[in-house]
Amino acid sequence: MPVHVSIHDVSPAWSDEVEAALGLCASMNVRPALLVVPDFHGRAPLLADARFCARLRDLQAAGHEIYLHGFFHQSGEHYDPARTSSRLGWLFAQRVASGGEAEMSDVSPAEGRARVEEGERVLRQADLHIDGFVAPAWSMPTWLLPLLGERGYRFTEDHLRVYDPAARRARASVVLNWATRSPARLASTLAWCRIAKYARPFAPARIAIHPADMRYRVVRGEIERLLRWAAGDVVARGSDLFAWRRL
Ligand SMILES: [Zn+2]
Repeated sequence: MPVHVSIHDVSPAWSDEVEAALGLCASMNVRPALLVVPDFHGRAPLLADARFCARLRDLQAAGHEIYLHGFFHQSGEHYDPARTSSRLGWLFAQRVASGGEAEMSDVSPAEGRARVEEGERVLRQADLHIDGFVAPAWSMPTWLLPLLGERGYRFTEDHLRVYDPAARRARASVVLNWATRSPARLASTLAWCRIAKYARPFAPARIAIHPADMRYRVVRGEIERLLRWAAGDVVARGSDLFAWRRL
């Protein structure tokens, strides 16, 4: 079964760690999809970093897919359309940092739609083509899939499945990722990844790399091991998880 690799939380806020993850993937001949956050936690507006935008354009030209990954990657306060004065189209009200990471599940459908539309505008303005959408924390409320379908998206994913929203198709798929927030969670996700990879004969797998993973030698080693394990079956595009057939 095919394996798809992605780097999450691609933002100027994580530029060093993103480069480290890209280097690790390149050393294994893998071109991961890049999950770009237009304004990570309301403190890293993509368009304010021209060099980072240029780097993303180069990576896309070299074959990396670009997915929109929420807008702030945090729910926080609702934005107030009456106060739109920022160049991004609105002022992000206050205390973004108080929000959870499940951005799309924590906001109203109307606000979620506004964030998707605004995110698309930012990526387009950065001259990037949008190849898919992944909700922060893979947290997809029921209204999101129809919205993505309506907007023509051909790839999205949650913990258990990958979807083609426009074609209304879905397929079971295993996620391999690491939670580095606490030693206990890290130990459990390390164990999960070692077990879950045995599901690969039955379902396509996804290896999800987070920038913070690069800070842990044990996780870097695990990622390297998994990429080696996946070698030969890594697909370049998320939508290849649907099309793939073993000859
Ligand atoms: Zn994320």
